[in-house]
Amino acid sequence: MEKKPFVTLEQLKEIEKTYPTPYHIYDEKGFMENARKVNEAFSWNKGFREYFAVKAEPNPFIIKKLKEVGCGVDCSSYTELMIADKLGFRDDEIMFSSNETPEGEFGYCAKLGGIINLDDITMIDFMEKEAGIPETVSCRYNPGGVFEACNGIMDNPGDAKYGMTHEQIIEAYKILKEKGVKNFGIHAFLASNTVTNEYYPRLAKTIFELAVELKEKTGAHIKFINLSGGVGIPYRPDQEPNDIMVIGEGVRKVYEEVLTPAGMDDVAIYTEMGRFMMGPYGALVTKAVHEKHIYKEYIGVDACAANLMRPAMYGAYHHITVMGKENEPCDHTYDIVGSLCENNDKFAVDRKLPKIDMGDFLVIHDSGAHGFSMGYNYNGRLRSAELLLQEDGSVKLIRRAETPKDYFATFDFCDIMK
Ligand SMILES: *Cc1c(COP(=O)(O)O)cnc(C)c1O
Repeated sequence: MEKKPFVTLEQLKEIEKTYPTPYHIYDEKGFMENARKVNEAFSWNKGFREYFAVKAEPNPFIIKKLKEVGCGVDCSSYTELMIADKLGFRDDEIMFSSNETPEGEFGYCAKLGGIINLDDITMIDFMEKEAGIPETVSCRYNPGGVFEACNGIMDNPGDAKYGMTHEQIIEAYKILKEKGVKNFGIHAFLASNTVTNEYYPRLAKTIFELAVELKEKTGAHIKFINLSGGVGIPYRPDQEPNDIMVIGEGVRKVYEEVLTPAGMDDVAIYTEMGRFMMGPYGALVTKAVHEKHIYKEYIGVDACAANLMRPAMYGAYHHITVMGKENEPCDHTYDIVGSLCENNDKFAVDRKLPKIDMGDFLVIHDSGAHGFSMGYNYNGRLRSAELLLQEDGSVKLIRRAETPKDYFATFDFCDIMK
């Protein structure tokens, strides 16, 4: 499938008058329509809620929009809880799915009334000390082994640091029940970026069966099942996008097969998607600023891995459109590189693209989740601005670009960098 940017060259030229490249831009119309569709796909389930994974795009302007369509937040750190707090999320609108949780965070979550999702059985005492025993607690499950969704899409829970074993989660439920917990949740995240409609239904079957077992063995009241994140997006043009309606129906089928006969048809389904909610609705806009002809052909751009780390970190593919040249032949082979003194700072390697001229705008697709938020300051590079392309076509600054002052802010206890 052809990947088309959600902004036009004309819009980029207009934006440039106010905001220089590089920047991340987000498509409000796109992500709001998608969020509504997610709700629709699971509307068969009375208690359904998507808890947006804040780490994917921790921008309060965007999360505020998602709140308008009923999303909660999935937080995993103190500062993510602060975003939730400031935006007025309370009680069961907050899921706190942390691991190796530092001191002070369970306490903060409890103060907001949020739901604690325990990563480990040893965290029960730690939670109790800070937060007491909440009425509702969730436990994270790790079945171990290898998890296969379909056609070769798999992941390796046995190698993952998260969650409790089968025996531990039963034990944890018993302990928590004894301590006075009234309602329980189950959470599991077994595969990442799954571009298949099979992942959630397969995962749901695993957790639903566990839920029935937990109810039988411990008598616990299971209030919700959290399918977490992992629903993928087609980063590559040859990938078929997930159909959330098909995914929702797939989960419904398993629900009716496993939970309904067990008398558990009041269980709410929760999701914690980040990538699927925002990934395709963000783009990193950068300009070609240098060209270099050595053993390979390089195009230097004004963004770097500090703005989008996924290619450097995972060798991840991000599609690139050279704006205004969409219909020209891809008869050049380039490495598209940033300015870090680090050889993995490459947005694309051996990519077939139209001839690039200095000053061309390049749109790097699918930066909306785990893009800006993974940014860092290596080489003293600064994080870019974030812009929102609003539904009415206007552009709003939702985070300004860092300046050297921000970079040196942590020396404000002394005079040396004043
Ligand atoms: C990262 C994460 C998510 C979101 O994952 P996506 O792949 O972006 O959907 C959800 N839940 C937890 C606990 C996570 O760590």
